[in-house]
Amino acid sequence: MKYLVDTHTHTIASTHAYSTLQEYIAMAKHKGVKLFATTDHGPDMADAPHFWHFVNLRVLPRVVDGVGILRGIEANIKNVVGEIDYFGDYLQELDIVLAGFHEPVFAPSDKETHTAAMINCINSGHVDIITHPGNPAYPIDITAVAKAAAENNVALEINNSSFLVSRKGSEHNCIAIAKAVKEAGGLLVMGSDSHVAYSLADFTLAEQIVAEAEFPLDRLLNRSPEALLAFLSSRGHGSLDEYSVLLESFDASSN
Ligand SMILES: [Zn+2]
Ligand SMILES: [Zn+2]
Repeated sequence: MKYLVDTHTHTIASTHAYSTLQEYIAMAKHKGVKLFATTDHGPDMADAPHFWHFVNLRVLPRVVDGVGILRGIEANIKNVVGEIDYFGDYLQELDIVLAGFHEPVFAPSDKETHTAAMINCINSGHVDIITHPGNPAYPIDITAVAKAAAENNVALEINNSSFLVSRKGSEHNCIAIAKAVKEAGGLLVMGSDSHVAYSLADFTLAEQIVAEAEFPLDRLLNRSPEALLAFLSSRGHGSLDEYSVLLESFDASSN
């Protein structure tokens, strides 16, 4: 496996996912994954964990058996103003904050509304990564979103599960997104969006998109634990020092 960093996974804390955190850690060890984020759905999702799930992530060890575990959330973009279902000081206490559109929280509307909501969310400063922006159910102005993301040091995700189990028809949008982010000088990240541990760090199809867009790998956050941690630190997340034991691991972009 080339990419040993995954920013997007769900545990049984969201009941439509099927693995525990411990099962993810075991799978990470098995696959050689160095760093992954646990990012359950924000509290407004139909079967999401309670708000306390995210507050109490602080009890998790940061590194287990050489695997780094980032404390995160996949929040819901709630409205056209770009608000999400997590807030205040609690955001900075997490290591990584993802946000995206999900049907039960934000019903698909029109391109103008989706674009405004996503850009307002990017501009809010509360979110590090926008998940599955290529979802065909939520058409957006890709150039405008990529530009806003680049200007605000926010990464856009190429979601591997969009090509497998959900959000059918994402390929075309995702290639356009990768190209637009490249053009805008922004950051891209691949997320497995695993709802079961077996697919942890599986980027098979996302990698094809990145290759097809000829995206520069030095702006792909999965290239090393160091790259992702430096990005999160630049986004204002503190207390990442405990992950420094991971940093002698390799950098995929130099392969
Ligand atoms: Zn999602
Ligand atoms: Zn997800």
